[in-house]
Amino acid sequence: MGFFDKFKKKKDAAPAEKAEGCCCAQKAAAPAAAPAGSNVFPAADLGEVFPGAPKNGKIKLAIYWAAACGGCDVSLLDTNERILTIGEFADIVMWPIATDGKEKDIEAMDDGSITVPLISGAVRNSENEHMVKLLRKKSAIVVAYGSCAMFGGSPALANLVPGGADEILDYVYRKVPSTAAFQEKYHADCAVVPKSTIQVPEGTLTLPVVYDTVKTLDQIIDVDYYLPGCPPQQESITHLLKAVVDFVYNDVALPPKGTEIGVTDKCLCDECPRTKEYARITKIYEPYQVNVDPNKCLMDQGILCLGPATVGGCNAKCTKAGQPCRGCYGPTKLVQEHGASALTAIASLFPVLDEDPTCDEQKIIEIMSTVKDPLGYFYAYTVGKSLIKRTVTEEKA
Ligand code: SF4
Ligand code: SF4
Ligand code: SF4
Repeated sequence: MGFFDKFKKKKDAAPAEKAEGCCCAQKAAAPAAAPAGSNVFPAADLGEVFPGAPKNGKIKLAIYWAAACGGCDVSLLDTNERILTIGEFADIVMWPIATDGKEKDIEAMDDGSITVPLISGAVRNSENEHMVKLLRKKSAIVVAYGSCAMFGGSPALANLVPGGADEILDYVYRKVPSTAAFQEKYHADCAVVPKSTIQVPEGTLTLPVVYDTVKTLDQIIDVDYYLPGCPPQQESITHLLKAVVDFVYNDVALPPKGTEIGVTDKCLCDECPRTKEYARITKIYEPYQVNVDPNKCLMDQGILCLGPATVGGCNAKCTKAGQPCRGCYGPTKLVQEHGASALTAIASLFPVLDEDPTCDEQKIIEIMSTVKDPLGYFYAYTVGKSLIKRTVTEEKA
C-alpha cells in the first residue's frame, strides 16, 4: 500500500499502522532484504578477517574527490578496523586526502589497470573533469561514491545562481563581509578575483576553470556502480566492500552495471520506526520550534520530511535522531523527480479533502510560504539530476 493510499484510508486504519510499502517503493537492482519482522537494513557480513592476499594478486584501488567536502573520504573510516586491513587485498594508488599520489603517477599507468576508483564529489571545474576522465580511462570499473557524485549534491545548488560562476566568484570575493573588508583594505583600486590564467614574469600560471553548471559524475563519464549518501552510511559501505571482497576472494560476479549498492527496494519511511498517523498539515515547523515527539512521524508533527520519496538504506539515521530526512540517499527507483515527489507527498497531507474543506488555496499558499528556501529544501541533494538542472535567464527580445 502506498503513502497516498494510506493517507486516503487513514480514517479506517488503525492509527499505529506500520508501513508495508510506499508509493515510491520499487525493485532496486540488488537490494539486501531486512530480516523478517524487522525494518532495519542490515550491514553486510564481512567475516572475521580478510584471508591474506588474493590468489590473483591485490587489486588497485583509487579514491578521488572532485567537488567534495571530504566527508565521503572520512566515511571510509566507518569501515572501523577494516580500514587497517584493506591493504590485504588492495594497493591504494591514489587518495589525495591521505596519501601523496601524483597525477603523473596515474597518467603513467596502463589504461584499465586500476581495478576501481571510488570517486566522490560533483564535477565543478576543469580539473575535476580532467581527473575523472583520466581515472575512467585508467580504470576497469568506476564507482560514484556519495550524493555529490551521484546527484550533484550540495555543490549543484550553485546551479540555481542565475549568473553562474561569474556571479558566484563576484559574490564570494567581493561581497561576502570578510572578503569585502579584505578587498577594501588591500585592493581598494582593483579587487582581486581568481582568474583561470595569469601572466607572471616566470611564465603563465593557471587555475581550474570554474563551470557555470555543476554536473554529476555520470554526466561526464560512464559510471558502473553507485553508492548514495551524504556521506554513505556504514551499512551501505559494507555492501560495497562485500561485493569487492566476494569478487576478489571468491570469484563471485560483480552486481549488474548500474546497481545502486547499499539501498533497499523501499522508501525510507519503511525503515523509520516512527509511528505514522498521516495527520493533516496545517502549519509547518522547524524541529527547533517544537518539542519533537520521539515516537511520532515528523510529518504528523508538521515537520517536512523527504522520507516518502527517498530510498531506504541508511536505517533512518536522521529521523531516529529527531531530524527530518533531507533526501541524501536520493529518490527511489519509481521517483523521477525527487523534490517534486516529496512535495507531492506533503501536498497530500493538506486538509483539502472534499468532505473536510478546512483549507483553501490561499491558506495552503500561506502555509507553504513559511518554507524559506523551497528549492533548497526539496532538492538539497538532487538538483544536478533534476529536470530543473539549473536556473536560466531568458533573453529579452
Ligand atoms: S556527498 Fe556529502 S559527504 Fe560526500 S562529498 Fe558530498 S557533501 Fe561531502
Ligand atoms: S518521519 Fe519521515 S521517514 Fe519517518 S515515517 Fe515520517 S515521513 Fe517517513
Ligand atoms: S535520513 Fe535521509 S538525509 Fe538522513 S542519512 Fe538517511 S537518507 Fe540521508
